[in-house]
Amino acid sequence: MRIVVVGAGPAGTRAALRVSARLPGAAVTLAGAEAALPYDRVALSKLLAGEIEVPALLTHSARALRDAGVGYRPGTRIAAVDRAAKRAITARGEALDYDHLILAMGSQAVRLPLPGAELPGVVGYRDLADVRAMLRAAEGRGNAVVIGGGLLGLEAAAGLAARGMRVTVVHAVDWPMERQLDARAGALLATRMGGRGIRFAMPASTVALEGEGHVQGVRLSDGRLLPARLVVMAVGIRPQVALAREAGLDVGRGIKADRGLFTADPAVQALGECAEVEGQCIGLVAPALEQAEAAAAALAGQGQGWAARTDSAALKVSGTAVWSAGDIGGADGEILTLHDEGEDFYRRLVVKQDRLVGAVLYGDTADSGFYLDLITRRLPLGRMRASLAFGPGLAA
Ligand SMILES: Cc1cc2nc3c(=O)[nH]c(=O)nc-3n(C[C@H](O)[C@H](O)[C@H](O)COP(=O)(O)OP(=O)(O)OC[C@H]3O[C@@H](n4cnc5c(N)ncnc54)[C@H](O)[C@@H]3O)c2cc1C
Repeated sequence: MRIVVVGAGPAGTRAALRVSARLPGAAVTLAGAEAALPYDRVALSKLLAGEIEVPALLTHSARALRDAGVGYRPGTRIAAVDRAAKRAITARGEALDYDHLILAMGSQAVRLPLPGAELPGVVGYRDLADVRAMLRAAEGRGNAVVIGGGLLGLEAAAGLAARGMRVTVVHAVDWPMERQLDARAGALLATRMGGRGIRFAMPASTVALEGEGHVQGVRLSDGRLLPARLVVMAVGIRPQVALAREAGLDVGRGIKADRGLFTADPAVQALGECAEVEGQCIGLVAPALEQAEAAAAALAGQGQGWAARTDSAALKVSGTAVWSAGDIGGADGEILTLHDEGEDFYRRLVVKQDRLVGAVLYGDTADSGFYLDLITRRLPLGRMRASLAFGPGLAA
């Protein structure tokens, strides 16, 4: 059986390894567009901040892949899929015949269609090439602007500041990470990052990137010009679906797949960030890896398929840990908060019908597992509610 996996990110690499282990004798080819060996995308921020070097980022050596029965082809972009002929065509025109195809192309960083967006010095934040471009720019220090104050934008800002750049984050909402944090935790985080020299323009929107031959500044809608020799756009991600759409597969926000990660074509599975599994697109590495495991099992005729769980998000920037999970908005819910200004410690819990539905932890995230468990299992709180904000030690 010839199996071709498209995309050597965490999901594709895990799927290739698991499929090879579960189907002895299968010829597994892993085609990745990037030049490097498979690496830990989540750790890119550590590379940017100077906490690790490239070798520590790599997750699998060429030898380990070969020994596991996976033929890895770096620098191999699949440009088209001919499903009738069961053939994946590389950008160089080479045909890879398959009996089974696994699509794991991930996402791409959204680029705002602003005037000047194509100027040199404007980068997204998705892969090793982006980080290398940022590191080159950071060598000259100077000003950087990060557009987008979500998780990725803040990690980029913290990394560039650690490299000596003067960083301003432009964010459209009143506080950063508004999807994971409530206003108070967001304000605490912005203050803490401000203490490390990172400035925020919030709420603010960008109307143009300016410069001659290279970006020199970011023009805001209020007329201000923020000088910048590097602009990082961290305004969201979009699943890579073009290849699947052109191959005639069913595509919504992502490539549509069932719990076994099969598309409507039984010879094609889709998984990771490029997939839309039973209506849900993911944006974190843990569920992407779970999908890879489930897909390999399903291909071997085993397992229960993949089911969504409550997502949680964790961030550690400028020495401050933040974590959130579930519904943190609190509409129709009751809000429990605990705030120690002296200790820079804050907690917000959202309770509905005697159950914990969402949590934000700022400053100390050691109890995240306890809260995630309560949210996921939907356990009745009962008497535990009165001491819930103090964590598992007191909430009995
Ligand atoms: C800087 C950064 C920090 C992050 N931090 C966190 C975090 O703290 N926690 C967390 O859970 N998640 C985090 N994420 C998200 C996490 O990295 C993703 O959820 C995960 O990488 C998704 O895995 P994937 O394999 O589906 O896609 P990807 O990792 O995007 O891999 C897809 C691969 O496919 C390749 N490809 C695309 N098209 C083709 C083609 N046509 N032919 C061949 N190859 C192709 C791409 O080049 C890419 O290498 C972070 C992401 C970034 C960028």
